[in-house]
Amino acid sequence: MKKVAIVGCGAYMESGYGCPGEWRCLKAAAVGEGAFTEPHAVVSFVSCECPGRTVVPTLGMAAKLSEMKPDVIHFSTCLSSAKPGCPYTKPEELAQLVEDKTGIKVVLGTHDYH
Ligand code: SF4
Repeated sequence: MKKVAIVGCGAYMESGYGCPGEWRCLKAAAVGEGAFTEPHAVVSFVSCECPGRTVVPTLGMAAKLSEMKPDVIHFSTCLSSAKPGCPYTKPEELAQLVEDKTGIKVVLGTHDYH
């Protein structure tokens, strides 16, 4: 089974909308729905923190401490499709930065549940 690290938008996750830790990203990864074409093992779930500069080191620390390097990184739907959008960066630009720094493919989105 492929291993995935998921990155959520910390500004959203901390706003009291019940995310994360409920089920959407986790179910999509577990059963292979939404942006996942097959079931994935979630090996880390980290949050971006404004203005987005901590994502790469946080992912690196998670991989180091867990001793599990993800095969792919998914940006959560709340990060990838936020309305209004992130005031600091575009998801595509942040994804390119993470890909360049980690060498791991980044996919935008996790689920399409409501
Ligand atoms: S920088 Fe953007 S994506 Fe990251 S936590 Fe802040 S608002 Fe969310």
